[in-house]
Amino acid sequence: MSALAPARGEVQIVEVGPRDGLQNEPMPVPVDARIALVQDLAEAGLTRIECGAFVRPERVPQMASSDAVCRALTADVMIAARGVRLSALVPNLIGLERARAAGVREVAVFAAASETFSRRNVNQSIDEALRSHAEVCAAAGSAGLAVRGYVSTAFGCPYEGEVAVSAVIRVTDALLRNGVFEVAISDTIGVAHPAQVRQVMREVLRAVPARSVALHFHDTRGTALANVLAALDLEVTVFDASAGGLGGCPFAPGATGNLATEDLLYMLHGLGLARGVDLNAVVAASARVERVLGRHLPSRYYRAVRSATGRTHDGSRPGAS
Ligand code: MG
Repeated sequence: MSALAPARGEVQIVEVGPRDGLQNEPMPVPVDARIALVQDLAEAGLTRIECGAFVRPERVPQMASSDAVCRALTADVMIAARGVRLSALVPNLIGLERARAAGVREVAVFAAASETFSRRNVNQSIDEALRSHAEVCAAAGSAGLAVRGYVSTAFGCPYEGEVAVSAVIRVTDALLRNGVFEVAISDTIGVAHPAQVRQVMREVLRAVPARSVALHFHDTRGTALANVLAALDLEVTVFDASAGGLGGCPFAPGATGNLATEDLLYMLHGLGLARGVDLNAVVAASARVERVLGRHLPSRYYRAVRSATGRTHDGSRPGAS
């Protein structure tokens, strides 16, 4: 069993708000607030946090200065003392070198299960992207860095619609052969429902071990928690989530994107499946970044708790009617 896999009976959350979340917010968040968000989430007890992306700033201005963000966090003594694993997204060898220089010890690469999505998103075919990842994985391995993989559009594509399970398996398997320790199978547009999760993941898990798989759900159509339950039955134990539901959906402006960390934690606490993460502290972390963003975050749990205590992002009291 991989040393990076969760212990038996434990569900692991990979917090992606500071990267996947903030990357999809309309306004870039200042470096200090990005650092504070990761520090807050680490103090709340989250142990795996994706904190930046080493992509071209003209393409993704929200992730500019990830060097400064990661440098500060990898030097943070509290984060180190807690054993928090910080990771960053890298699209290529240049990104990998920037991540390594900033002290990051775990990186993530992304591929798509849909050919059209791959071409439109990274201007490469699936196979071209996989070849590029093979180089990144080899170089990361030589430098002693761990690599995580994402397979986007695994449950549906905004351009092609249905995606064949065989394509999901092919890309997942290729990433694992390249040396990634875990593949996050991702519902990029938030269309998955539990019956589909069961069907897709049963086939995937016939080809690759459950300990090498994570799931990345979006709550765009309100099915993310139901999907997590379906996946737990199949013994998947690693789930991505975003504090406050940061990020929105890039394919449906105004809609919900990433499953919110608070919503996932509330359910997992009820099931007795998550220990060591302080839900109130995650809410406080979300509240702090919400004030910077100046927009309401969509997490159901967050909104329930915040409205019950009479606070909104601008400090006003909601109407009493
Ligand atoms: Mg996402």
